[in-house]
Amino acid sequence: MTHETLWSVIYNELAENLPTHAINTWFEPISPVALIDNELVLEVPNQFFFEWIESHYKQNMNVVVSKSETPNLKFRFIVSAEKIEVSDHGENKTIQTKPNRHLRPLINKNYSFETFIEGSNNQFAKSAAESVASDPGNSAFNPLIIYGGVGLGKTHLIHAIGNRILSETPSAKVVLVTSEKFTLDFVNGLRKNKTIEFAKQYRSADVLLIDDIQFFRGKEQTQEQFFHTFNELHQSGRQVVMTADRYPAEMKGLQDRLLSRFQSGLSVDVQPPDFEMRVAILMEKAEQNGVSLPYDTIEFIATHVKSNVRDIEGTIIRILARSSLMNQEIDFTLVREVVKERVGKNISSDLTVEDVVRRVSEISKVPERDIVGKSRRMEIAEARQISMYLCRHIIGTSLNSIGVYFGGRDHTTVMHAVKTIDEKQQKDNRIEKIVTTLKRELSFNLAQL
Ligand code: ADP
Ligand code: MG
Repeated sequence: MTHETLWSVIYNELAENLPTHAINTWFEPISPVALIDNELVLEVPNQFFFEWIESHYKQNMNVVVSKSETPNLKFRFIVSAEKIEVSDHGENKTIQTKPNRHLRPLINKNYSFETFIEGSNNQFAKSAAESVASDPGNSAFNPLIIYGGVGLGKTHLIHAIGNRILSETPSAKVVLVTSEKFTLDFVNGLRKNKTIEFAKQYRSADVLLIDDIQFFRGKEQTQEQFFHTFNELHQSGRQVVMTADRYPAEMKGLQDRLLSRFQSGLSVDVQPPDFEMRVAILMEKAEQNGVSLPYDTIEFIATHVKSNVRDIEGTIIRILARSSLMNQEIDFTLVREVVKERVGKNISSDLTVEDVVRRVSEISKVPERDIVGKSRRMEIAEARQISMYLCRHIIGTSLNSIGVYFGGRDHTTVMHAVKTIDEKQQKDNRIEKIVTTLKRELSFNLAQL
């Protein structure tokens, strides 16, 4: 039996026994890679998948196997695009994940436009990517370069382009590689005197997608090769898309002639997500992972984890993993623990006065503009005092700076506000509740944990 047949037998059996959503989420994305002795090697999209399957479905898989014709079968998981060495009768042998498919398997199906969350930080990049994908080679965006910091969705977008093109034109030769893989192929080509083959493989692409071109830096010969490949493709109207960690013209170590070629296309950036976008991402990712996070924990995470989408995703994954491994319910305490681990001591120093004002405004329904303004209307003044109090207690902002920020008041006014809220908390239940909620949410006094 081949690994494919074997896996389809097991898959079908599992599908009979598990809910459809579980099959779609966790088993559909698995691909069988090899059968070595009695070990079936399965490729999963990421580490979290692996952990999740191990902790939730390993049992079901074993039961299916024990009742099958291959009761001694074992499973071994590898994470996508990871090259592994497998010992086979003492020899080392590299598993080639699904060979002979023009590098296509390296396109991650989960990275699609449909799963890409759009916000003001990435709208332009997404539109450009979609437009290229709908008419590769024919738009003015050739080459298209998507650039920006880590974890902001560049790799996701370049894979989405590949997926879209292949779904519309399955026969298209889409080559998607990292610049490292390109370099490696080139070097291997040289070593084995197969540079022609190397060139053919890349130059016959209809669409060439290269991720992270910054790794070409300083590699003169590879750049040379890339330059020729690029020219040939570009001249014959084929699409080239690249991603980079910064604006291409600012990339040191890349040949000028390469950079000047890039000018003929379009460079678009992806920016870090703002607060609203982080909330949207958290809700979406939580749903995708089949977990329901209460809104206050979502806001808590969005307040503290802000660098990039990968971190946000990683936080959800950790929360899930922790809850499933330790058999704990997902509640505020668990979320706080995980966030604390990920963000560490920066958690409160990362908070800004703006963050505080925004949250107070959300809860009190007093517009931010009024909170930092001059009005003495009671509810506005109260929201302002609460904000001042929280800034003082959580961020430790100086009385003077608070005064300046909140409508140019002097430090005695701020002192008075802080004292008022202190006192009101004793007497007024409503104030007490608001302040405790906000404190819990915003502050993260590590000493208290
Ligand atoms: P980069 O290549 O820019 O470092 P990635 O594309 O690898 O970032 O993104 C990191 C992770 O965050 C991936 O799992 C990706 O799916 C996810 N991600 C990034 N941006 C978005 C987005 N706008 N919507 C959904 N997921 C995103
Ligand atoms: Mg990337």
